[in-house]
Amino acid sequence: MLSSNGRMKIAIQRSGRLTEDSIALLRACGLEFEFQKQSLYSPCKNFDLDILAIRDDDIPEYVRDGVADLGIVGENILRERKSKIPVLEKLGFGSCKLMISVPQRSSYKAITDLNGLRIGTTYPHTLKEFLRQHKVKAEIIKLSGSVELAPSLDVADAICDIVSTGTTIKMNGLRTLCTVLESQAVLIASPDVHKDKKKKKETERLLIRIRGSLQARGKRYLMLNAPLEALEKIKAILPSLKSPTIVPLADTNMVAVHSVIAEDVFWDVMEKLKAAGASGIIVVPIETIIQ
Ligand code: ATP
Ligand code: ZN
Repeated sequence: MLSSNGRMKIAIQRSGRLTEDSIALLRACGLEFEFQKQSLYSPCKNFDLDILAIRDDDIPEYVRDGVADLGIVGENILRERKSKIPVLEKLGFGSCKLMISVPQRSSYKAITDLNGLRIGTTYPHTLKEFLRQHKVKAEIIKLSGSVELAPSLDVADAICDIVSTGTTIKMNGLRTLCTVLESQAVLIASPDVHKDKKKKKETERLLIRIRGSLQARGKRYLMLNAPLEALEKIKAILPSLKSPTIVPLADTNMVAVHSVIAEDVFWDVMEKLKAAGASGIIVVPIETIIQ
């Protein structure tokens, strides 16, 4: 039985590909909790929220029925469950594609080549919808797992399955033919949340924190000193969120420049800054950015 103790509940995947990133996101929002896979609930110590650990497939129904107020789940699951629950935020992890693959040596190239074939999948609804949109008539073989083996077992001629790196597909003598759906983890909310004043407010608080930590992802805070005459050149190099902060220094010929930069351009930018006359360059991690 799921207890209803009046606290908000967020459903996350108990154990799987989304678990670690879901927990990391909640911790990055400042939530303190001990996560135990074995127990259904992990209470937050500093927020009126319990974390509910369940199978990812159950998350849309739990949230729709209000058993959980919020949930973190893949868009692929939402689509397959024909869920109409509103997505509050895309979370930028758990990225994968639902793709149709065919045997490497087959001659199939276009989506229309799938006409008349048997396609094995654990995503029958999503596939049905895709085939309908593309006016392809194929037989959908519903499978419950190990989809990639279906062609070699002659259970199907093609498969429709989740692909992230493509290694499994290749290892099983298959190649991808087309993408059915691009997916990532998203935050969903029960329709009831908006009707309850307290829950609505708590959800908004949490959402601000989530957006803040998503904004900060992959970004660094950069500080440097520069001669006044090099300032324009340095400002032109900095790809900033907004214009950089310029701080005067005791030496009136010098200024300090503070800015946010993306992690992946950092080394490139730093070399250019140094060449332009910057010194004392310091780069620190950012936990959150509240706009
Ligand atoms: P559960 O026991 O909770 O039902 P599961 O085996 O169905 O777990 P996982 O394989 O852990 O689920 O995948 C969870 C989600 O992670 C998927 O629904 C999808 O959104 C995402 N995902 C990201 N990359 C992959 C991948 N390579 N294969 C499968 N899912 C992936
Ligand atoms: Zn699952």
